[in-house]
Amino acid sequence: MKVQAAVHFGKNTELVIQELDLEEPRPDEVLIKTVACGVCHTDIWVQENYMDTMVLGHEASGMVERVGSDVGTLTAGDHVVTAYNWCGECESCRQGRTWECDSFDDNFDGLRPDGTTPFSLNGRPVVPLMREGGFASKMVCHKNSVIKVDPSLDLRSLGPLGCGIMTGAGSVLNYLTPEPGRPIAVFGTGCVGLSAVMAARIAGCDPIVAVDRVPSRLELAMNVGATHCIDGKKTDISKFIKSVCGGVDYAFDTTGSSRLLDAMRKVLNPGASACGVGIGGALVLSERELREGKSWTTTNTGFSVPPLFIPKLLEYYKVGQFPFEKMLRFYRFDGINEAFEANRACTVVKPVVLME
Ligand SMILES: [Zn+2]
Ligand SMILES: [Zn+2]
Repeated sequence: MKVQAAVHFGKNTELVIQELDLEEPRPDEVLIKTVACGVCHTDIWVQENYMDTMVLGHEASGMVERVGSDVGTLTAGDHVVTAYNWCGECESCRQGRTWECDSFDDNFDGLRPDGTTPFSLNGRPVVPLMREGGFASKMVCHKNSVIKVDPSLDLRSLGPLGCGIMTGAGSVLNYLTPEPGRPIAVFGTGCVGLSAVMAARIAGCDPIVAVDRVPSRLELAMNVGATHCIDGKKTDISKFIKSVCGGVDYAFDTTGSSRLLDAMRKVLNPGASACGVGIGGALVLSERELREGKSWTTTNTGFSVPPLFIPKLLEYYKVGQFPFEKMLRFYRFDGINEAFEANRACTVVKPVVLME
């Protein structure tokens, strides 16, 4: 079938809206009519670094149009979002730790295990990022990366749940699992950090200190649950946090900045758990800090099993406890390059491209 897609034709070029061919779904695949797709920093990174012809986009929402014969759990008309893919057969998957799937890195190749792709242009394969390719009017995804969502919700807003939002919220709710009333600091308040702030509020953390250098983001952090915020460029971060609460029991970093990680290190209480998305840098603890019970880990995908965690986040959203829609700004499909630019320039927390 013919579809419209925003195609990446090589390093550092603007996306071009173009007609592509899309195969019918295979037995374990799902054909989705895409409604919207969020722009993520991974899309920007791929745009700036990859030479391959690709369809970017991996935070998609849409409606199931057709399913393959082995897709038991979904039917035509279901509202769905996409998330990372896992094999379901390796030891990690069998134990329910899908984020540690042996095949996790295949997500970045974008290819099926047999090396093919469902998109093509004049007979030449076009690679969908994360085996998804959300910036297209239709997409064919593996069944494990398609998650059914409540049809009463506005489908246009839900795509980003499958990547940045899940990662930030999951780092707090699945890994840190804070005790109510205890202090947490969140470094970086983009989509991932703000989602962590919202999750910290759900967990009952107090205080919740947010650190960033973009004033509008700090304002949004206060709006979605932070109790204190600091402009990390202007203020001595560790001094400020110590004056607020002495130190923190939990910390989450999205920046990878060695300066911010250093400030984090100075405010960790004995026994504190810290984690981060590990892009750019990680906290390396000394022997003494380890003896004090401090820990650091990198929380890939927020240790989330998407079909379990996304519906849980939507339950919080429905009762007003997880107001992630405040981060979104919508763009038309023909404005996709503008949406990418807004994400690159940090002027919009989460641009979402509407397919119609
Ligand atoms: Zn992403
Ligand atoms: Zn697996």
